[in-house]
Amino acid sequence: MTSLQTSPPTPVADAALAASARGLTRTYGRGDTLVSALRGVDLDLPTGRFTAIMGPSGSGKSTLMHCLAGLDQPTGGTVSVAGQPLESLDDDALTRFRRDHVGFVFQAFNLLPMLTAEQNIWLPTELAGRPRADHRGRFDHIVATLGLTDRLTHRPAELSGGQQQRVAIARALLTAPAIVFADEPTGNLDSTSSAEVLSFLRGSVRELGQTVVMVTHEVDAAGYADDVVVLADGQVTHHLHDPSRADLVAALAGRSA
Ligand code: ADP
Repeated sequence: MTSLQTSPPTPVADAALAASARGLTRTYGRGDTLVSALRGVDLDLPTGRFTAIMGPSGSGKSTLMHCLAGLDQPTGGTVSVAGQPLESLDDDALTRFRRDHVGFVFQAFNLLPMLTAEQNIWLPTELAGRPRADHRGRFDHIVATLGLTDRLTHRPAELSGGQQQRVAIARALLTAPAIVFADEPTGNLDSTSSAEVLSFLRGSVRELGQTVVMVTHEVDAAGYADDVVVLADGQVTHHLHDPSRADLVAALAGRSA
């Protein structure tokens, strides 16, 4: 069996599409309690864009993100990330693929409390057995851009919520994954910290060519994105490119602008 610690990065086949889904369905339960969380989603997310996934509570946003990220298995349909069909990977290969090509930012930051900011940022790279030297330049750039240079020796409890989320973003971006999934990344932040985090995510797309997919229910947060996917009742109702706020509000209200 291949060790997760030492295996080289799994290759990716296609850089043009960061993620795509065809006929994606996900049901939970059965019989009387059957819930169709996703009902035939077709979606292409190009590389180098910042996409927000929006929709009412229960519309399937989290389920879609988890299926695209290989954290949840769809009931039907296909998902590819960077050209790699996820259904063709067994559990070990999927874990390695996520480790090598997918970054995550969560609402609750998910930092390890006993490690410093710097140790938290390096952790996934070290778990993958990668030499720090390969990533040192990017580390310095990301840490400086996120304003974390003076905070590297602090533990999460000694950092504000906004600083903790910036550490989590630095951790997600360090290995330049094919795609970063951010699940309500500003859900626990005040408006100033939210604006900082969203500006940085947008900047990582513009300046580092990062692909970011963010689930959010906040129109203001989605305003930082290039594209917005609107879900209703498990289906994509709109896929808007550079929408105006009016277009976005109309789409969320179930109208065309
Ligand atoms: P959103 O993120 O837009 O709020 P979700 O993807 O969490 O929506 O949920 C979509 C639907 O699937 C909802 O009806 C929800 O109750 C249902 N659902 C989600 N996860 C589960 C689960 N583990 N078991 C049963 N139903 C679930």
